[in-house]
Amino acid sequence: MRRPTAAGNWKMNGLRENFDDIFLIDAASKHVNCDVILCVPDTLIKEMSERTNNIFTGSQNCHINKSGAFTGDISAEMIKDAGATHVIVGHSERRVNYNENNHQIREKANIALENKLKAIVCIGETLTERKTGVTLDIVKRQLVDSLPLEISGETIIVAYEPVWAIGTGLTPSIEQIKEVHDFIRIELENNFGAKIGQSINILYGGSMNAKNVDEISAIKNVDGGLVGGASLKADSFIPIINALSLD
Ligand code: PEP
Repeated sequence: MRRPTAAGNWKMNGLRENFDDIFLIDAASKHVNCDVILCVPDTLIKEMSERTNNIFTGSQNCHINKSGAFTGDISAEMIKDAGATHVIVGHSERRVNYNENNHQIREKANIALENKLKAIVCIGETLTERKTGVTLDIVKRQLVDSLPLEISGETIIVAYEPVWAIGTGLTPSIEQIKEVHDFIRIELENNFGAKIGQSINILYGGSMNAKNVDEISAIKNVDGGLVGGASLKADSFIPIINALSLD
């Protein structure tokens, strides 16, 4: 049985003074029955990994190369060395702002895995793609081209994040989320075998909050959430963690 995951993505937010929220989230995660991951800015990774006990420390991106002349970038090895256990790859903000494509995202996921980081691979359609009826084609292409060729539930989490739902307060209907999550599960099973396909957590992301988490997490094949805005404060993230925790 898959253990649910509550993952927070702090994006370019968070200073050392925000450790109060991290400690509250850590304390609240002690007795929950789900994995809690907080993907903080890289500047906070070392301290967070050293000063928390119940949550996983994640980064939000890594370079495709091990090291070298890439000013301003950070490698998977460095993230691991700082204390992270997870890294997000292929977030739509990186796909859009830095033109990251599926093949580069696969390389990032590969190097994350080589460095024993669990990769949270983000996929999802734009509003135009949804309106033109190509959502499942896009998701399939992203899955086929972004995921490493060998994966398991130990190494990979898939996050379905419709681009138009991120940071907008909009969410797809329950039927729309169900359709895509069921589709992703079938694709994972077809491409990697039933056992591996069943072992992989598929998170929903896009304006998840304390009000909609119950309804969304009740959908079959939704194994948790990747949460942006609502993960920034303990007050708004802890209810989501509690809702995702198994009874
Ligand atoms: C995200 O950035 O991954 C995200 C889901 O953001 P939000 O929850 O703010 O929509």
